Amino acid sequence: MREDINEKCAVVGIFNHEEASKLAYFSLHALQHRGQEAAGISSGDGKRLHTIKDRGLVTQVFNEEKLETLKGHMAIGHTRYSTAGDDSILDAQPVHANYDLGQLSIVHNGNLTNHQEIRQELIKQGAIFQSSMDTENLIHLIARSEKEKLKDRIVDAVKKIEGAFSLVFLSRSKMFAMRDRFGFRPLSLGKVGDGYVVASETCAFDLIGAEYIREVEPGEMLIFEKGKAPQSIKVYDATPKHCIFEYVYFARPDSQVYGQNVYQKRKNMGMELAKEQPVEADMIVPVPDGGVPSAIGYAQESGIPFEMGIMRNHYIGRTFIEPTQEMRDLKVKMKLSPITDLIKGKRIIVIDDSIVRGTTSRRIIRMLKEAGASEVHMRISSPPTTNPCYYGVDTPDKDKLIAANMSTQEISDYIGADSLAFLSNDALMRSVNSKGEEYCTACFTGEYIV
Ligand code: AMP
Repeated sequence: MREDINEKCAVVGIFNHEEASKLAYFSLHALQHRGQEAAGISSGDGKRLHTIKDRGLVTQVFNEEKLETLKGHMAIGHTRYSTAGDDSILDAQPVHANYDLGQLSIVHNGNLTNHQEIRQELIKQGAIFQSSMDTENLIHLIARSEKEKLKDRIVDAVKKIEGAFSLVFLSRSKMFAMRDRFGFRPLSLGKVGDGYVVASETCAFDLIGAEYIREVEPGEMLIFEKGKAPQSIKVYDATPKHCIFEYVYFARPDSQVYGQNVYQKRKNMGMELAKEQPVEADMIVPVPDGGVPSAIGYAQESGIPFEMGIMRNHYIGRTFIEPTQEMRDLKVKMKLSPITDLIKGKRIIVIDDSIVRGTTSRRIIRMLKEAGASEVHMRISSPPTTNPCYYGVDTPDKDKLIAANMSTQEISDYIGADSLAFLSNDALMRSVNSKGEEYCTACFTGEYIV
């Protein structure tokens, strides 16, 4: 069982809106791509908190009737990303507890790197845990803090944890949003009606008609209290190191992440890739959906026509959802199919955003060759993924990362491509840097920050 299962997820918080839980529901719906295993919402009406969470997609967990019971003018929500191992309902969020100051609910996106040390220490002191989630540590740290006020207890608690966290807390009367000092995982602030919203990505704002205000700054805590403007507290000096993989793969192209549009960044990556790794071909074909923006960039830069040569069946989840290798193979087949008439006899450049285990690309190339492609050149709009992520992206251990164990030529042979090339680190940086922003690129470079 993996213990670090609090990974790529979505968080949302709505404050001071009469339909708070409904807005949280719609926001989670927009953020469904960040996690499909479990969903939950806690709402508050100033007197008590109500929580509903379960395994499944947002639309499976909630219906009108359930949302009606989530009363109040504030709500926080979460969708959980699945990883191998524990799929217990106890690992769904919000994490909720009663303690000496009353009730508290927490949602968390990220991964705490000193989770085990803290948990062992707490267990030695007599704490009892219900789940394997690192977020539960926070509840205990807050409950045990000697400080009088919740805001001071939160500061106390987050000063003990390390790693990646975008957090939203709900108490009986207040909401708190907090981001780690590196700003690994995204978190944006918006205005909705007379109230406020925080969410992992701004595609949630667009759906609920909220207006984007700004990022929650790395190291910043925002306190939302009725009748007051959000109060900002600097818990840490910010040393931004945003996760590059949000731009490469994870975030939705229509979102602003770290204050900038994702689609444009991905398209830049494709343009840079065309400059660095040209090859003669008849058409550019993206692996849908992830490879589409970068394939458009590659096509525009190279002048080679872009064609949707592979169709995606949208009614199944992402291929990573299934923990076993056989199931993953089958899911790739179920998900993607070629347009044979288009592909037959053609030299194809197929573009995807990343290669992790190599399963997807191998299957796709086999599929294109079976459809009659005369040549298949694979181009990847990010560098080789050579290192696992400890800050909240679900990259597998090093022994399963194909690029950590094979050269580019060996991978090319393994996936059956006529050629394979990746984007260089420098070109990736050129694609995402407009104002000298700093990123965490550990998955590509092995340079870990914490
Ligand atoms: P693989 O088959 O293991 O090489 O996976 C590569 C495919 O999975 C690519 O099409 C990516 O778009 C997608 N992908 C990359 N990283 C992740 C991730 N962390 N979770 C889910 N899918 C991913």
